[in-house]
Order: sequence, then structure tokens, then C-alpha cells
Amino acid sequence: MSRKALIKSDSGLLEFDAWSFCRTKQELKAGVTDAYHEWQFPRLSDEPLLQSFTLNDWAISGSQNKRNECVLAFRGQLNAVFSCAHCGKPVSEQIEIHRNLLLRLSEQDAEAYDQENLDDYTDVVSCPGSINLAEWFEDELMLSLPMLPRHEECEDNPDSGLIEIYRSAPVEADEDQPVGETVRPFAGLGDLIKSTKK
Ligand SMILES: [Zn+2]
Repeated sequence: MSRKALIKSDSGLLEFDAWSFCRTKQELKAGVTDAYHEWQFPRLSDEPLLQSFTLNDWAISGSQNKRNECVLAFRGQLNAVFSCAHCGKPVSEQIEIHRNLLLRLSEQDAEAYDQENLDDYTDVVSCPGSINLAEWFEDELMLSLPMLPRHEECEDNPDSGLIEIYRSAPVEADEDQPVGETVRPFAGLGDLIKSTKK
């Protein structure tokens, strides 16, 4: 089956036959698979600390391993600009995407799979039927994001509590309340530490 027969249009991304894709060892890649140059990644766009991103040199390939198991591989380079979790200023990161998904027919099957001999890049996932390929790719991109994007020069800052809170609950602008009078317990800590360091 040719690639064109397998994936006819953008709707092919929504009901993508990953099993056939792997069995017939196909590949989709940037610059070659023209129909897919505009990926939509809504969840990535909603990430509070992610300001902008581009996905370069991406490729999705299907194969079968020595045990004839289907493996769907995602590759790519995510060039992302985050808001630094500490200082809030832009911080650029280049993230390599490298993930293999070994397909199983059911959730139970995936859970029961002996993962001992798998490498760090490989996960076992359940794939009962066709998949939304763009969504699966987005999952991998989401998983590749750093928990706490920040500048290297911010790294030795001791107020990790502040960073955790910043990440789990993006600070909402509250113009009525001056810093130090909000209910967030660590809200003023960063400023306090900054001022004592000067
Ligand atoms: Zn910073």
C-alpha cells in the first residue's frame, strides 16, 4: 500500500492506521509530507510557560522490531521559547524529540508487557484501533517539555518553593493588591530573596 493510499488527506491524521503504517514501514517527515506541514497543537499552545515554538525536522516512522511488534517512532526538534519559571523573562530551549511507542492491542496487554529489555526511548502503549496522529505527536511534545524552564543563571536560586507554585498555578495579575499582601504564601519570597542577595 502506498503512502497516498494509506493517508489521503488531513483527515488521515484523525483516523490514522498506525498498525498498517508500522507493518508497511512507512514514514512521514518534514519537507516531504507536504500535506502535514501545518500541525495543530492546541494543548501545546495553551501551555502557560510556553511563549512560542516551532517544530523542525520532524519525522514519524513505522517499523517492526525483531519480535514483529509494531513500533511507531516520533522524532523532531522543538525550538521553544519559555517564560523562565523564576524571572519570567524569555528563555530559549532546543528540545530533541525521540520517542518510540510499541503498540499493543489493549490497555491490559500494554500493562502486562515486560518492559525490562526496552530502551529509555521506548514506551508501551495501547492502540486498539486507528489513532489521532497529531494528538499522539502532541502528547510526545508535551512530555518533552521541561517542568521548570529557566535560565541557567537562575538555577542556583534557592527559592524552589516559589518556582513550584509558579508552575502549578500561573500567577494571575492582581493589580489591586501590592506584592506582600496576597494570600499566596511564597508570593513575596522571591523579592525578599532578591533584596537580601543585593
Ligand atoms: Zn530567569
